[in-house]
Amino acid sequence: MKSAKPSPIKARERSSTKPAPELEVLALEARKHAYAPYSRFHVGAAVQMSGHSFTGVNVENASYPLSVCAERNAIAAAVMGGAVNLEAVAVATDASPPAAPCGGCRQVLREFAADPAKVQITAINPKGERRRWTLAQLLPDSFTGKELPKATR
Ligand SMILES: [Zn+2]
Repeated sequence: MKSAKPSPIKARERSSTKPAPELEVLALEARKHAYAPYSRFHVGAAVQMSGHSFTGVNVENASYPLSVCAERNAIAAAVMGGAVNLEAVAVATDASPPAAPCGGCRQVLREFAADPAKVQITAINPKGERRRWTLAQLLPDSFTGKELPKATR
């Protein structure tokens, strides 16, 4: 079988410092496809990476620890699409006030953020309530691959 690097999904180029309202729309739409039969906590996430948009939903499992968050599934879709530079994130839930990404996802997002102070994270719900942070605010003094000895990288 022929193998080729997948090309990223087309999306508009954008500055990482501007709000990304279309990411919010994508996250809200993705949320409708969440697989959350156990918690009924439906989450949609949209990430802008390397100028392109990717979405994910939470996917739960009867063996609860195997469940995967929407943010991590969106990151996986981006990496699969060849995008590894995180620029902005939107997360949609039903929570009021809108729920922030969990600690594990904050660390996964950090892996792809060149400058976490420039990565805008917006939490939104269907009522249009929003909360905004930078990744640096949600995960200060973060751990990165720079902490690891060079031999392990
Ligand atoms: Zn999470």
